[in-house]
Amino acid sequence: MTSDTTARPMIGTDLAADMVAQAAVRAKKLQDETGVQPCLATVLVGDDPASATYVRMKQNRSKKAGIGSVSVVLPAETTTDELVAELTRLSNDPTVHGILLQHPVPEQIDERAAFEAIAPAKDVDGVTMHSFAAMAFGEPGFRSCTPGGILRLLQAYDVPLSGAHAVVIGRSPILGKPAGMLLLASNATVTYTHSRTQDLPALVRQADIVVAAVGKPNFVRGEWLKPGAVVIDAGYNEGNVGDVHAEEVARVASLLTPVPGGVGPMTIALLLEQTVDAAEAQTANR
Ligand code: NAP
Repeated sequence: MTSDTTARPMIGTDLAADMVAQAAVRAKKLQDETGVQPCLATVLVGDDPASATYVRMKQNRSKKAGIGSVSVVLPAETTTDELVAELTRLSNDPTVHGILLQHPVPEQIDERAAFEAIAPAKDVDGVTMHSFAAMAFGEPGFRSCTPGGILRLLQAYDVPLSGAHAVVIGRSPILGKPAGMLLLASNATVTYTHSRTQDLPALVRQADIVVAAVGKPNFVRGEWLKPGAVVIDAGYNEGNVGDVHAEEVARVASLLTPVPGGVGPMTIALLLEQTVDAAEAQTANR
C-alpha cells in the first residue's frame, strides 16, 4: 500500500490467534475431563503443491492447538468411489471428530458426491448440503470456514450488516455462495455476481460491503467502489496477491482486509474452533 492510503486494515491475524488460543483451552479441558483429544482428519487427493501446503498448515496449526490430526493422502488417479469409501470410513471412525477434504480435487472426481460422504456431525469445513442448509436458514451448524471467518471479522470490526448492501463477487460452493447466505442471515441485502454478470462495476458501486472471491489477481479496481465501502479480499493468488487491487482500493474503501493476514488466518482458526465444537458434541453424545 502507498502512503496516501485511507482504508483501515482489517487484520485477521490477531483475532485468529485469540480464536485458536480459546480452542486450545477447550481442547485441553476436554482431554483432561474425558481423555478425548479432538482430532481432525485431512484428506488430500493428488499432488498439487498449493493444496499440500494448505493441508500441512492446517495440520501444524492443529498440533499447536492441542488438536490431533490424521493425514490421508490419496493418489491423483483416485476415483470418486475410492474417495467416498475413505470419507465414509473416517465418518465412522469414533476417534476422528472432524474431516477436511482439501478442495479442489482432481477433475475425474465428483466433488459434491465426495463432500456428501462426510458425516454432517464431522463437517467442520462446512461443505456438505446439510451445513449449507443451516447457513441458508440462519440455523446453528458448521460454517464454511472462509465465509464463517469473514463474518467473524466483520463482526469484530463492528461493521453494520443489517440493511447493508453486500455485493459478493463469486458464487463457488465453498466461498461466494455461503458468504452470501451468511450475510443474508445477518440481514444484509445481498447481490451475487459471477462470470456472466453484466456491468459488474456498476453493481459493485452500490455496495456497502464487497466480498471478492474470484480467483483473479487485482481484479476489483478502486474506481468501482463507493467511497467508504468495506472490502473483504478473500482471494489468494500467487505472490501474496489478493483479488482486489489493494493499492487502488485502499484509497477509496474505509476498511480492507490485507493479503496475507486478513481472511486467510480466520479460515484456519474457524476450522480448529469447529473441530473442537465437533469433538465436544460427539463426546457429550457418547
Ligand atoms: P472458484 O471456485 O474458481 O470460483 C470463482 C468464482 O468467481 C466463480 O463463481 C466465478 O463465476 C467467479 N468469476 C470468475 N470470473 C469472474 C468475473 N470476470 N466476474 C465476476 N465473477 C467471476 O474460486 P474459489 O474457490 O471460490 O476461490 C476464490 C478466491 O478465494 C481464490 O483467489 C482463492 O485462492 C481464494 N480462497 C481463499 C481462501 C482462504 O482461506 N483465504 C479459501 C478458499 C479460496 P462462475 O461461477 O460463473 O464461474
